[in-house]
Amino acid sequence: MLPVLMYHNVGERERHLNVSPQALYRQCRLLQIMGFRAVTLSELQEHLRTGGLPRRTVVFTFDDALLGVYHYALPILQRFGWRATVFAVSQKLGGVTDWAPRHRHRVMNREQIAELHRQGWEIGAHTLTHPYLTRLPPEDAWREIAQCKDDLQELTGAEILAFCYPYGDLNNQIVQTVRACGYESACTTRKGLVRIGDDPLLLPRVPVAYSDGALGLLYRLWRAWRYTRLG
Ligand SMILES: [Zn+2]
Repeated sequence: MLPVLMYHNVGERERHLNVSPQALYRQCRLLQIMGFRAVTLSELQEHLRTGGLPRRTVVFTFDDALLGVYHYALPILQRFGWRATVFAVSQKLGGVTDWAPRHRHRVMNREQIAELHRQGWEIGAHTLTHPYLTRLPPEDAWREIAQCKDDLQELTGAEILAFCYPYGDLNNQIVQTVRACGYESACTTRKGLVRIGDDPLLLPRVPVAYSDGALGLLYRLWRAWRYTRLG
């Protein structure tokens, strides 16, 4: 079993969907001391495809491609020699998270996304505008899922293989659309650890919150391990 950690922003002030740089550093240090190494989501998918999960491996995911991730998480993870997967909302790059007006965060611009890609981070897709996909007519949901892939492929020059459902909102039809668009792995907001045999388009994650330091992360990992074991 293996954890895919779910983060949003990294910064000092706003508490909502944010961790401090100090907390992120301490969480990385703890994982390192425990013998973990980090891989990207597509590297995990490759292991799932070939039928084996490496031990002591973790995936860092950052939803929404927020600016603090570029400023803080990139250099922190670099100190450990680790890379992460960032899920970008392609029509909001360079703007703000206007889909969540009460908690606005600044979003990375195109150049910053390209720079993360050059640094070996994986860029994943998180739709064009961050809608609830199940509430859209099928053709609009298709466009949100397919065109985001095209946009990010054009920006990075690489194939985009990872997807993340906004708000974790999905049904069978949405999952089939994600598959048909050529994505190989996709993250949900369901809590738990990834196991051999899991559907790679329905991966559970472990959410990390503002108040979690290293011990908070340890507690969340333990809880996720229990959920997953007890089914
Ligand atoms: Zn999101």
